[in-house]
Amino acid sequence: MTPPVFRFAPSPNGHLHLGHALSALLNARAARATGGRFLVRIEDIDQTRCTPQLEAEMLEDLDWLGLPYERPVFRQSEHFADYADALASLEARGLVYRGYLTRAEIKRHVAAEEQAGRSWPRDPDGAPLYPRDRDVLPPEELVDRAASQAPYAVRLDMAKALAVAGKDLIWREYPSELAADGGLTANWDEPEIISADPAAWGDVVLARKDTPTSYHLSVVIDDERQGITDVLRGRDLYAATSVHRLLQRLLELPEPKYRHHRLILGEDGRKLSKSGKDTSLRELRERGWTVPSLLTAIGLS
Ligand code: GLU
Repeated sequence: MTPPVFRFAPSPNGHLHLGHALSALLNARAARATGGRFLVRIEDIDQTRCTPQLEAEMLEDLDWLGLPYERPVFRQSEHFADYADALASLEARGLVYRGYLTRAEIKRHVAAEEQAGRSWPRDPDGAPLYPRDRDVLPPEELVDRAASQAPYAVRLDMAKALAVAGKDLIWREYPSELAADGGLTANWDEPEIISADPAAWGDVVLARKDTPTSYHLSVVIDDERQGITDVLRGRDLYAATSVHRLLQRLLELPEPKYRHHRLILGEDGRKLSKSGKDTSLRELRERGWTVPSLLTAIGLS
């Protein structure tokens, strides 16, 4: 049997915090406990916010944690051609379209609808779903934008995609926590079958106006490319898994085992953010934290 392959996939657009440390440690421990491999993927598709310096600092943080990740690390910015190929295949099958609306236009449209007493659907992250361009722009404007070099995002036509993918879309969610000592929980191999209905996300972006791919598209392609068998990541990405399963089905990519672990919340009960200095690993280190004190703080030993 080939050994399991785990990954930690941070974006170098800020510093690693306690939540990242938990995720990285759980993946490294799961790899160790199963005789598997532990890979790091740098999710740097957003070249305006991700910098080599932040990447170097992230890897320094992982070294400080003592995590034995394989080198060289996989960098998404080196694989834009793969994402373009996948997009072209979806485009050839009529499953994507160009969306020209700007953020401001979407916002105005949603506000007008809500003012008129019609509630506007939101995705599981709370963002309004994308309206149809033709419901927002006058017909001549639509023609103008398509004919001009106006920037556009490539969006998945969710209704068509679901029709092609079929209704039996599911994912297998495996027990998510490791024992505190890094050992495995007893029912490690009994998944819960989750029916994946990505419709709640609407016509998700697959390539942005300023980035030729998106998180959802690159994550499924790279999980396959890196041979990831086990995706172990934070609960905040649980709902997104339905979109990943849909894209895997459309692109004929294998389904990894999914596990979503608890999140570390800030004192205000909210998810930690990369701008929150108080929990950044660098900051904590400067304040004298050691790895054992960090482990205690995040409930591992
Ligand atoms: N890059 C994502 C993040 O930093 C994680 C992607 C994933 O684990 O699927 O939240």
